[in-house]
Amino acid sequence: MEIRTVGVVGAGQMGNGIAHVFALSGYDVLLNDISQEALDKAVALIDRNIERQVSRGKVSAEDKAAAMARIRTTTTLAELGQSDLIIEAATERETVKQAIFEDLLPHIQPHTILTSNTSSISITRLASRTDRPERFMGFHFMNPVPVMQLVELIRGIATDEATYKTLLAVVEKLGKTAASAEDFPAFIVNRILMPMINEAVYTLYEGVGSVRSIDQSLKLGANHPMGPLELADFIGLDTCLAIMNVLHDGLADTKYRPCPLLTKYVEAGWLGRKTQRGFYDYRGDEPVPTR
Ligand code: NAD
Repeated sequence: MEIRTVGVVGAGQMGNGIAHVFALSGYDVLLNDISQEALDKAVALIDRNIERQVSRGKVSAEDKAAAMARIRTTTTLAELGQSDLIIEAATERETVKQAIFEDLLPHIQPHTILTSNTSSISITRLASRTDRPERFMGFHFMNPVPVMQLVELIRGIATDEATYKTLLAVVEKLGKTAASAEDFPAFIVNRILMPMINEAVYTLYEGVGSVRSIDQSLKLGANHPMGPLELADFIGLDTCLAIMNVLHDGLADTKYRPCPLLTKYVEAGWLGRKTQRGFYDYRGDEPVPTR
């Protein structure tokens, strides 16, 4: 099946990146959010990010103009009904995602493929609440979407081969690489990455190291391009906590216990870069550790 029109639900960090790469690859994109402000911010950010690619000679000015013209925005979910493919990239909360799919169902076409960019929630469970579990998949992009090469493709228990092959072709057209993951909590990347980030927060919580020494240790001692706390701020501490909770609940193993300090930061609304404060404070010229 050929995909031409893509609906993206949620215009946050991930939604804007997803809209960016699909529009640049020639797809018509309809970007939805409950917040008009989020939509306006997303379009301005996509413009700035593609402009950066133009200035580096990676994208032509004509291709940028064509991509920007392919993106439309709406706060009305029903307008996504004409899409061949819908990618849900709203807040990492199962009730939010379920409500979105429920609201979409009366408006979509029989052939429409539904996907979720969830980092951790069961694809099989999300799919089972729709009228098309066979045309439902996990479509997990990495942050920042225009830069990261990998896309995880997660088949729910009922996902059919045609849907998987269609999404594989889409990933190829985007110039990215797909990795297949089974539908178990947090799939592959976050199953490994999040316990490491959570352990870094425990290391801070127990006073083994400071924010700077923990990040520097992993950068210089394990050759990671970013320290784990810096990376947590980049991902969003609410998203990190949500994923740890899914691992903890879904695998029922205490080794996935979210660190109380991570919970505390989320309770404070210090969610990382997106709120200007997390393990670092980003409000000045240079990030300053908050502990
Ligand atoms: P975010 O907080 O930046 O953005 C979420 C957006 O969803 C917000 O703009 C919010 O207004 C919108 N939203 C909330 N409820 C909505 C609704 N009912 N309808 C439409 N829009 C709604 O979050 P994010 O980092 O972009 O994460 C989005 C999804 O992508 C989550 O499922 C997350 O797990 C996943 N993800 C995140 C990352 C990451 O590094 N941040 C990486 C891969 C996947």
